[in-house]
Amino acid sequence: MDLLKGKTAVVTGAARGIGRAIAIRFAQEGANVAITDLAVDDNARETVSTIESYGVKAKAFASDASDYGDTDKVVKQIIEEFGTIDILVNNAGITRDTLLMRMTEEQWDLVIKVNLKSVFNFTKAVQPYMLKQRSGSIISMSSVVGVSGNAGQANYSASKAGIIGFTKSVAKEVGSRGIRCNAIAPGFIDTEMTKKLPEDVRKAWTQQIPLRRAGLPEDVANTALFLASDLSSYVSGQVINVCGGMNT
Ligand code: NAP
Repeated sequence: MDLLKGKTAVVTGAARGIGRAIAIRFAQEGANVAITDLAVDDNARETVSTIESYGVKAKAFASDASDYGDTDKVVKQIIEEFGTIDILVNNAGITRDTLLMRMTEEQWDLVIKVNLKSVFNFTKAVQPYMLKQRSGSIISMSSVVGVSGNAGQANYSASKAGIIGFTKSVAKEVGSRGIRCNAIAPGFIDTEMTKKLPEDVRKAWTQQIPLRRAGLPEDVANTALFLASDLSSYVSGQVINVCGGMNT
């Protein structure tokens, strides 16, 4: 299928994990893909060559998504290189888990900056181009814990809840210009982020999932493809849970 043929997508934090799976899924559907990550390392290079194997254009850009000036610069570079941006996936994210009583100001600030401010940075930088072309799809990675909350993740849950408010607001601002803005709320997905958790915590999570397995990055990527493509042409301002039935 060629659901994204001729489109250009930007995926942040896409050297590995969910972002990588989204970038590759988009390429399989004909999109040219710019990926960003903190550094253009071996992971980023491998992701680029996998994307290119589908016969589309790909390039990795080093960019700290939490830095406003850096983001503005990299979006301009992507426009110079690719000519347009049709799809933005705000995927970059981190955790600094601990109970509030132990959480430092630095742990709070960093998670809010990387997870939430990055969404503001990239959406704001990309928006003028989408407004001009009167089309675009913006997808941001929230989390089920942005709605449910989670002990030990007050910073992370707050950042992911913020993404939902941001998404619904921007969808109302730009809908009349043909731009759609949605969020995905993954549940427990098997990536480096969740591999860091102790085995008993991973087991406890899996037991809460009606489908009785962790999600795969590809499960999230297929939902991102739906939101990026015209299959979702009348879907905006929504949050789609990809969580194996957990928390619904
Ligand atoms: P991951 O495997 O840890 O990958 C995150 C990626 O983001 C890495 O490539 C990382 O780069 C990059 N990154 C971190 N800080 C960045 C920054 N300041 N600027 C640019 N890139 C940055 O995580 P994941 O599991 O794929 O998660 C992807 C997104 O889904 C995140 O927003 C996460 O919160 C969300 N999510 C994940 C789950 C889950 O269960 N895995 C559930 C709900 C939501 P480095 O390699 O350089 O560190």
